[in-house]
Parts: sequence; structure tokens; C-alpha cells
Amino acid sequence: MVVLKCKKCNNKGVITIRHRNITLCKEHFLKYYLKTVESTIKKYRMFTKRDKVLVAVSGGKDSMSLLDALKKLDYNISALYINLGIKDYSDQCKKIVEKYCNENNINLIISDIKENYGKYLEEFKKLRRNLCSVCGIIKRYEMNRIAYEKGFNAIATGHNLDDEVSFILWNLMNGNFQYIKQKPVLEKIHEKTVKKVKPLIFLTEKENLLYSLLNNIYSIHLRIDCPYSTNAPTNILKEMLNKLEERIQGIKMRFYKNFLNKSSQFLPKIDHEIKSCKICGYITSSNVCSFCRLFRRG
Ligand SMILES: [Zn+2]
Ligand SMILES: [Zn+2]
Repeated sequence: MVVLKCKKCNNKGVITIRHRNITLCKEHFLKYYLKTVESTIKKYRMFTKRDKVLVAVSGGKDSMSLLDALKKLDYNISALYINLGIKDYSDQCKKIVEKYCNENNINLIISDIKENYGKYLEEFKKLRRNLCSVCGIIKRYEMNRIAYEKGFNAIATGHNLDDEVSFILWNLMNGNFQYIKQKPVLEKIHEKTVKKVKPLIFLTEKENLLYSLLNNIYSIHLRIDCPYSTNAPTNILKEMLNKLEERIQGIKMRFYKNFLNKSSQFLPKIDHEIKSCKICGYITSSNVCSFCRLFRRG
């Protein structure tokens, strides 16, 4: 087997950055990672060092790497962990987040869904609801509410290149054009919404995993995935896209950049009506928001 050498220093390479076709050693990869996060934040004017940023963390490799990178880059961050009460999985994730925030002196906000709203995610199984969509509604609502109430300027999430590409493709394939809003920044559009940003969109899942392993944030023995997500269609798409990537170097990044630059030429402009929920006052397109409907509030 040929061991590739770092393009910058000739030491042993640990990864090839595929869309740039460069191999990097551990040291130069870690520098590249932080540089990419910082340049993405600046390019899209996500936030500055003066802003209060709430980092939504799940305990997985992507959001934990984001948290670590923002800390190292000296941004003003707090972490938010939303406990959905998924057996075994949630407790394990919470421990990872708590340990990391303790050791690194990061303010951690924990929102427990049962404490706040009376039930955990699994109780929606009885109602025959799709748990992944219920989980999405709860997380989006809760992260926005907490960021708004506590005066944060932005919410940062750990979405990576693979997440964005697979989500876009899946919705294109299914004709769900109205869902495709995969932009690096979702601006504040309502009095009670907070700007949402994705600083990891130009980093792959593999690069996040490596970053988290090299920084000992995450261990390979701890590879835990949400028990409900394993059969998600976007996960199947991710696998297929990685097979394509093996043959066509840089295709994922090319697709995403083309999408960002050119999708307005072919995606219909859909103006969602912006209203305030009659019950909670947060954003909705109908009279009552999906979160209040979910928990039958009001
Ligand atoms: Zn090097
Ligand atoms: Zn509501």
C-alpha cells in the first residue's frame, strides 16, 4: 500500500481532502479544519466574535467537532443539549456533552422535553407518528425558543456536506421543492426567530469524524447512532454518494457548490406565509404552529 505524504510537510498523511486533491498529516489537517470553519463563518457572515452563539449539540461527532472548533477559534459560545429521552441513546449522548463542556469550561444549557412539555419522543410512537419528523419539529422549536429567550444572536448546527447533499437530492427526487432551503444561513425572518447557521457545510462527515477522533472528543468505541435513524433514506443516499465519490473525486462538493450558486435558476420561489402562532407566538405558516399541534397545547 502506498502511504501518501502530507503535501505541506511530507510527513505521513492521515486524510486526502478530496475536492482539493491534497493529502494532509495530522497537524496540517487540524489546521485545515479550523481554517475551513473560520472561512465559512466569514464568507457567509454567520457571526462575529461579538455575537452570542448557541451551538446545538447532539453528542455526535459533527456537533461536538463544531463546538470544539468554535471554542478553539475563540467565539462566544454556549452549548444546548435537547434531551428527547430516547432510551440508552439520549443518556449516553448527554454524558458526552456534559463531560466535554465541563472539561472545556463551556456554558451548557440542557432542555429536557419531558420536564418542559410532559412527554418524551417515544410516547409519540403510540400516536403512529413518524418519530424522525416529530424529533425535527421538537428540536427546531426548542432551539429557536431557547436562543430567542436567552438573547442569542445565532444558532449554529453541525450539518455537514454529506447531510446537505443527501437532503437536497432526496427532496429533488421526491419533488419536495418547498423543503429545499439548504443554505448556509437562514436569516431571522420573524420577530421571534433567531438566525441559523451551518459552519461545517464545506466539511465532510469523514473529516468531522477524523477531527473528533484526533482531538479525543469522541472515541471510535463510542460510535453511537440514533436507533431511529439507521433506516433513514438520506443515510442510504449518503452511502451511495460516497461510492460515487470514490470513483469521481470531489463530486459531492461540486454538486453542493453548483446548487448554492445556481439553484435559484430552477427552484420555484415559494413564499411561505409568515404568521405568529395563536398559542405560543412563535413562527408558523398557519394559525397554530406544528409544535403546539404536536403537544396539543391550547
Ligand atoms: Zn503536514
Ligand atoms: Zn405554537
